[in-house]
Amino acid sequence: MGKVLIFVEHSGGHLRTASLPAITFGRAASEHQGGPLVLVMLGKTLGAAAREAAQFGAEVLAVDDPALEHYLAETYAPIVARIAKEQGATLVGGTATSTGKDLLPRVAALLDAGMAADVTGMSAPKTFQRPMQAGNVLVQVEVTTPVVVAAVRQTAFPPADPKAPGAVTQVAPGAVDACGARFVSVATTQSERPELTEAKVVVSGGRGMKESSNFKILEELADLLGGAMGASRAACDAGMVPNDLQVGQTGKVVAPNLYIAVAISGAIQHLAGMKGSKTIVAINKDAEAPIFQVADYGLVATWEKALPELVSEIKKLKATQR
Ligand SMILES: Cc1cc2nc3c(=O)[nH]c(=O)nc-3n(C[C@H](O)[C@H](O)[C@H](O)COP(=O)(O)OP(=O)(O)OC[C@H]3O[C@@H](n4cnc5c(N)ncnc54)[C@H](O)[C@@H]3O)c2cc1C
Repeated sequence: MGKVLIFVEHSGGHLRTASLPAITFGRAASEHQGGPLVLVMLGKTLGAAAREAAQFGAEVLAVDDPALEHYLAETYAPIVARIAKEQGATLVGGTATSTGKDLLPRVAALLDAGMAADVTGMSAPKTFQRPMQAGNVLVQVEVTTPVVVAAVRQTAFPPADPKAPGAVTQVAPGAVDACGARFVSVATTQSERPELTEAKVVVSGGRGMKESSNFKILEELADLLGGAMGASRAACDAGMVPNDLQVGQTGKVVAPNLYIAVAISGAIQHLAGMKGSKTIVAINKDAEAPIFQVADYGLVATWEKALPELVSEIKKLKATQR
């Protein structure tokens, strides 16, 4: 069987931790396929990030060119597809981040390959598990094309551990054609808090928080716990918090050690994004709210009463630990 080629991402001169689950998947795929694992990274001045990627025991193909400084699907996809062909890869994968979700379907199209999206498991070289219907159904899909592309769910595979370092090989980009697309700017939210999909603790608020200013107490709780902020779609749609905090089927999928859902009813579309969390705490004034069906710890109370007490108790506990 052919090689397994995993697209890995970088940011600020470092390998993104979001790519580590894809490397774990790549290792499993390499065992299934019987071919070696190779990582591919594109960008400008990749030196340190490529060396970090090489710590995971696979050869890293680094396509380092000023024209690739900013990610554009139009420029990246043909290069990844060309390298996949040159390498004789039979499986091309990556994490289903916003970049992965944008890039990998295009790579699949260029390779005339079938694609499995949002993969949560692998049972045979071309058979993958993935959720459907907001996570209520798990299906096994078999992709029957000679080359397969897979976007893996970040929370479904553990981050890869380092191994004996692999080599970094420079690969020429060839002609970089953006097909009329042009990078203009990137707008990112600056926050001291951990990235939502990578945080060990997530504190989320729902429509029951009523208004934007009420999220301050959730932010205080998140900061005390070193966590990230999340929200339901209803809270985002109401403009209480930015859309990039949305957790759920059409938002981000998270699986932290601790997920605290405050004033969130627990609609299936929300659960699809957080029910893999290790411990779920729900605070809701309605004892019948569906969130309590998935919660490990549930408190029937208004947030107005529960949160100040919780924040105060955590502060006292922290003070005694100093
Ligand atoms: C195709 C599709 C995709 C969707 N994708 C997503 C998604 O990705 N993420 C997502 O979250 N939703 C998604 N939704 C929307 C989803 O169906 C729900 O409408 C949404 O999750 C509800 O958000 P909520 O729980 O904050 O609001 P509500 O359902 O209105 O619940 C508010 C909760 O707050 C409680 N509450 C009210 N006041 C207080 C108080 N003072 N103290 C404590 N509790 C209080 C209430 O008891 C209630 O349970 C999607 C829907 C569709 C159709």
